[in-house]
Amino acid sequence: MVKRRSFIKTAGVIAAGTLLAPSHAFGNRKKKRVIILGAGLAGLTAAYRLQQLGYGVSIVESKGRLGGRVLTYRPDPEQPLTVEMGGEWIGSSHHHMRKLVEDVGLKLVDHTFQNHLLFKAEHFRPGNWDLSDKGKASLRSLVEKYNSLKPDQRILIDKTDWWRYLRNSGFESRDLDLQELMDSNEYGESIRQVSALMALGNHNNYGAKMEMDYRIEGGNQRLIDELAERIGWENIHLNQPVTRVRQNPGGVRVFTYNGTLFEADKVICALPVLAIRKIDWDPGFSDDKKEALNSLQYSRITKTAFLFKERFWRDDQFGLLSDVHAHYIYHATRGQSGTHGVLMSHSIGDNAQVLGGASEAYRIKILNQALDPLFGPVDKSLLKQSTLDWSRDPIVMGAVALYGPGQVTSVMPELKQDMHNVHFCGEHLGDWQGFMEGAVQSAYDVAEQIVI
Ligand SMILES: Cc1cc2nc3c(=O)[nH]c(=O)nc-3n(C[C@H](O)[C@H](O)[C@H](O)COP(=O)(O)OP(=O)(O)OC[C@H]3O[C@@H](n4cnc5c(N)ncnc54)[C@H](O)[C@@H]3O)c2cc1C
Repeated sequence: MVKRRSFIKTAGVIAAGTLLAPSHAFGNRKKKRVIILGAGLAGLTAAYRLQQLGYGVSIVESKGRLGGRVLTYRPDPEQPLTVEMGGEWIGSSHHHMRKLVEDVGLKLVDHTFQNHLLFKAEHFRPGNWDLSDKGKASLRSLVEKYNSLKPDQRILIDKTDWWRYLRNSGFESRDLDLQELMDSNEYGESIRQVSALMALGNHNNYGAKMEMDYRIEGGNQRLIDELAERIGWENIHLNQPVTRVRQNPGGVRVFTYNGTLFEADKVICALPVLAIRKIDWDPGFSDDKKEALNSLQYSRITKTAFLFKERFWRDDQFGLLSDVHAHYIYHATRGQSGTHGVLMSHSIGDNAQVLGGASEAYRIKILNQALDPLFGPVDKSLLKQSTLDWSRDPIVMGAVALYGPGQVTSVMPELKQDMHNVHFCGEHLGDWQGFMEGAVQSAYDVAEQIVI
């Protein structure tokens, strides 16, 4: 990293003594260096892997904290409870993620739930609701075909949304509504907005619990901390929003809002698309890349952690899927000792917007609307509520990337394309897109690609 007062002057940015001295001169060093934009799970994993492969790394992060959309929260000043406000479940099929957790010496704990259903004002206990036999058989037969799809068939299926694809394949009334409730919980928006190819691919890989299997003991943020320790804090630069990336024949220069300049051989960009678009890229992106960056949407998820004095729901694995605003409510402190407990509401799409913008009193009404049929009014033992509406996050402006009809086979390949010495990774480019697994796998892939 190089101190450049002249740059600061031209950029009109006040340098507050933040710049570090260079450890090497540009173009005159042996160890190859890579700058990683973004200290989310993808950026940290890419840095960790590159270091193992003998590269020097610098991570440049805009916020004052690591982890991006992995965010473990301690809601209770009295009891040491942790809940996840961002990425939560690790699936049994999430092999890269599971291996990484193991490599850094952390443990996974069971995070499965027994889900009640509240549907059209009727309450069904766990085990007493499901798709019809016909619906289950239809889904199975659709999914079985996934692996043998030819490229032109994939393109055709991609053009359809998941709701219509199910409808065209014979899904009807209650089955279609239930599938919408279950799958939209995962995507963060109605399945009418999801590419059928994306959904089919996911269903093809799902385990029994739709990859809602585990969580890291003590909180997912521990993985972030462990990665940072291994990478070395001297290689991580917080509070440094990247504003400009300039490629030269000999390497890449990265400028931050604070007036710091980083130089390296290559850059890995591990940012969500809205963040990529805010940066001034020199040379600029092709028209196709610009269009791809402009067309990918992110879904809306609002999580609200309701901290209760007592765990009146009694079942440690309590979960409730519903067709009311709260959408999915579950015991987020499952498996953690203490008398207090947290019920998390995970609402999506328009409902996420309602929860995100609501007053505390209205959120309690929404909670009661879902829980009253099971427990009666629950607000008496409520100690506190904390909400995070990801659509209001100034960086991501959403929760996870949402590939709509036609986009898996067109937008995703375009976004994956590197640009000279700039390479891309992140949740939106993973095979398990929308999951931490996707962030980790895409980071491993891009690190290997650089080495070749
Ligand atoms: C509500 C919610 C629930 C989820 N649930 C699950 C789940 O149950 N299971 C699961 O596996 N996944 C889940 N996910 C998805 C998972 O959290 C993400 O896939 C993953 O954390 C994304 O990691 P990333 O590194 O690709 O992106 P991010 O975490 O978004 O990291 C990007 C980083 O780049 C930084 N940045 C942005 N702009 C700049 C800039 N200009 N300069 C420098 N730095 C910048 C950001 O501050 C951020 O730290 C959930 C996500 C949300 C929001």
